[in-house]
Amino acid sequence: RIGIDAGGTMRTLPSVSSTKPDVAAHKFSRGMVLVRAGPMPGAAGLASAAALRAGAGYVVLSGSDHAPFSAIIAEDGAGYADRLGDARIGAVIVGPGYPVSDALDDDVMAALDAGKPLVLDAAAIAAALPRLHQLDGAVPAILTPHEGEFARAFPGLSGSKIDRALAAAAFAQAVVVYKGADTIIAAPDGRVVAAWPGSPWLATAGTGDVLAGACGAMLARGGDAFDAAVAAVGWHIARAARIGPGLVADDLVADDLVRECND
Ligand code: AMP
Ligand code: MG
Repeated sequence: RIGIDAGGTMRTLPSVSSTKPDVAAHKFSRGMVLVRAGPMPGAAGLASAAALRAGAGYVVLSGSDHAPFSAIIAEDGAGYADRLGDARIGAVIVGPGYPVSDALDDDVMAALDAGKPLVLDAAAIAAALPRLHQLDGAVPAILTPHEGEFARAFPGLSGSKIDRALAAAAFAQAVVVYKGADTIIAAPDGRVVAAWPGSPWLATAGTGDVLAGACGAMLARGGDAFDAAVAAVGWHIARAARIGPGLVADDLVADDLVRECND
């Protein structure tokens, strides 16, 4: 869980135990997350499972009836707009398993209009960007692009990966988690952390969906979006390091790691 700040100084990422529930917690106070599924519901299912494992007290999976855990409320109907209006929802995740489409644009705009803290992944990032820029930070958001998604959403940026992450965060007025072998977490106010080393075993399908879910859980707690993103990246890397060779995305949300990695 080592991070390197923009000046090249090594620092330890915050321990995941800093996200331990309050002794008087109840399921809603721990954070309620809404995940909007697209046409590939497995990805949204992984994000939902990860949100629960990363500490959310309640997860609603909208647009899918394939809940990976029975504790997840899956709704394949038209409940998305109603759920967006639920005051208890602390974070909305859009993007996992949701390619470019008019439906994605509509779902992203509805989430932005609802004003909830957002985690935007994959094609949802470019879909949201013009409106996010206009909103100028009024809606807290974490964007989680990999290299290709970053280049599509933020074309023409130059400089180091840290420079580009900071420029993207400033433009979007959102926290950018620029994923890859090293993951740069950048805030519009200039805070930046490079999480390195990750685990190369994370280079497998579905791990980004798990990270989006963890970001949603941390964000739904109501704190600062940059701190939430750093905690989520630390959680992701800690679990990957514990699993090691042969990791698949589902392992990251399996129960046998929870106690160890949440300490
Ligand atoms: P995605 O590309 O959306 O599936 O996300 C992949 C996830 O795996 C991100 O969290 C990346 O940071 C992580 N990842 C991919 N390749 C590597 C690598 N070589 N070393 C460490 N982490 C990686
Ligand atoms: Mg992805």
